[in-house]
Amino acid sequence: MIQQIHRKTIKSSITLKGIGLHSGKTVTLRLHPAEAGTGLIFFLYKGLSKVRIPVSLDHVVDTSNATTIGDGGSNRIQTIEHLLAAVHTLGITDCILEIDAVEVPIMDGSSAPFWEGIRSAGIQELEETIEPIRIANPMWVVDGDKYLVMLPSDELKVTYNIDFNHPLLRGQSYTTTLNENILSEDILPARTFGFLKDVEALQARGLAMGGSLDNAVVLTDDGYLNESLRYENECVRHKILDLIGDLAVMGRPFYGHLIASKAGHALDISLAKCIMSQVTGDELTKFKSKRVPLFSKKEAAR
Ligand SMILES: [Zn+2]
Repeated sequence: MIQQIHRKTIKSSITLKGIGLHSGKTVTLRLHPAEAGTGLIFFLYKGLSKVRIPVSLDHVVDTSNATTIGDGGSNRIQTIEHLLAAVHTLGITDCILEIDAVEVPIMDGSSAPFWEGIRSAGIQELEETIEPIRIANPMWVVDGDKYLVMLPSDELKVTYNIDFNHPLLRGQSYTTTLNENILSEDILPARTFGFLKDVEALQARGLAMGGSLDNAVVLTDDGYLNESLRYENECVRHKILDLIGDLAVMGRPFYGHLIASKAGHALDISLAKCIMSQVTGDELTKFKSKRVPLFSKKEAAR
């Protein structure tokens, strides 16, 4: 039987200010309460006008470095995943997100400031309910040696493995249940990470201008540039944060056992599309076909 969950919004509006990771400039993000059924909707302010960009898989336009949504034209908002991981953890289904720049502020590189901000605004449970997604069959997406699998489960769990060509990030893996407490304590505070050589290359191109040790874990050739980490395995935890934030674009609570190896935004969004393409109307656990599609960029390019 499908258990219904109450929709939620925030009790009062809040303002969060930070800098854009790429622009390095101040960004103001305002969250407002919304009626049941609104969903999560960004309004991008451009001078006196504003552009509406709903958070939905149909609006995802780029997954190369971060997850970016757009209006189909030139208007885009990037790096939505850290905010969405916090929104999802707190069960917020309906909220207006006003922003005055094309990237969500990076804050401290994690989801913790968003989580704290939303908690301070208060959570309002709405009368209306929403059906969580519980898949009936395993689903997966593959790209070479990278993969992301979702197995049926009554709870949300993850097994994540990263394997970078770096002495500290070879075979880092983490398995955990992901309830609200565990997400907020063990996953949301994990900061984004990058390699010093990549940061230098990006900054030479005018990107990552806001990136610093205040908002990222930075890896040198054989160690960390930061004095300390929040967790010994902070990087794999951040990958889990990204995964939850990306799957939150589906706009519904979800349950399942996620198994990821070397995945990232592109596979996360592919899995979300795979799941949603097989969700039929109100019967969320019944699929049109038992055949599981296999996604591969290389296959698709052939
Ligand atoms: Zn991230």
